[in-house]
Amino acid sequence: MHTDGLCALYDPSSSSTAGAIQISKSVGMAGVNIPKDVETIQESLNRIPIDQGGAQPPLKLDGIAGPKTNAAIQKFQIKHFGWSGADGRVDPGRQTLSKINEILDANAPMPGNAIYEPMARHLAESLIWIRAAQTNLTMASAVVDQPIGATDGGLFTFSRESRMALSNRHFGIDDQPAQQRAAELQWASAVFRKMQMVFERPGGLWGVHVFDSDSAPDKSRLAYTYSGGFYQPGAHDGIVRKDAIYANPVAFETFERPNIGGPFAIVHELAHFVGDIQGVNEIVDHSYGSPDYMKTRLTSRQKLRNAECYANFAWEARHGRAPKGLNPKKCAL
Ligand SMILES: [Zn+2]
Repeated sequence: MHTDGLCALYDPSSSSTAGAIQISKSVGMAGVNIPKDVETIQESLNRIPIDQGGAQPPLKLDGIAGPKTNAAIQKFQIKHFGWSGADGRVDPGRQTLSKINEILDANAPMPGNAIYEPMARHLAESLIWIRAAQTNLTMASAVVDQPIGATDGGLFTFSRESRMALSNRHFGIDDQPAQQRAAELQWASAVFRKMQMVFERPGGLWGVHVFDSDSAPDKSRLAYTYSGGFYQPGAHDGIVRKDAIYANPVAFETFERPNIGGPFAIVHELAHFVGDIQGVNEIVDHSYGSPDYMKTRLTSRQKLRNAECYANFAWEARHGRAPKGLNPKKCAL
């Protein structure tokens, strides 16, 4: 593995992405609510995957136990303990805090691996984005074969349109012939599933070993990787490993909105990484860098093979609203 002196041993005790969280007094409804404790819980609920009761949209880290924070605590409790355990409060040493720690531990990057630390901070959040994307695609798959405009009980929440909203906005699924839509959704699901596999092979081929720092940082790029690196364990391009994703250390350190930019770049690179090495199923950057980029109207098949579309999709699945200021139209046009 190449190093440039910037690779650091990942130490979970010094990172916000792992290690047991603690609070000194109760947080939430009728709690003591010391601001520092409240912020700890807010941050923790933001890091928990949505399908495991995490906050959606993410809570503002303001240290105030207001209605949104209390509701997020209660939602988490209902998910894990049912209504009987949902008092809306997190107490030191009690079951809600234990459950939060259990989930954060299970989702933390593997400790003890050499990994560029600024990137490591974004890995746990990236995995949350990927899981949120998968949840959304599962929801869409259940209704994709219904006719466009179908509703379930007349409620918009359950309508085909609402369940397909993200898949259509970012991948244009309904632009495809009806008989191909389910297969195309499955293709997108498979891409996210492979991304998840990259994180979930502790001690195996990938795990966090797949992330490395860019030894020759080019200011213009945040990260780079090889198409289909996922299928090329041990392969090299000159001295550079093809089975890795490289982050520009300077860019990751100075990125203005790290919790948005980091996972965004990681999901984008992961898409290239898990697509085919070449051919029609390679995941590329369609017209990236061209002045016409924003005007390019991609077909649904192109969107499904465009890395930025996966980053945009995951962003929205995670945050519950369209990406702002992140070139969302690259795929949505
Ligand atoms: Zn790219």
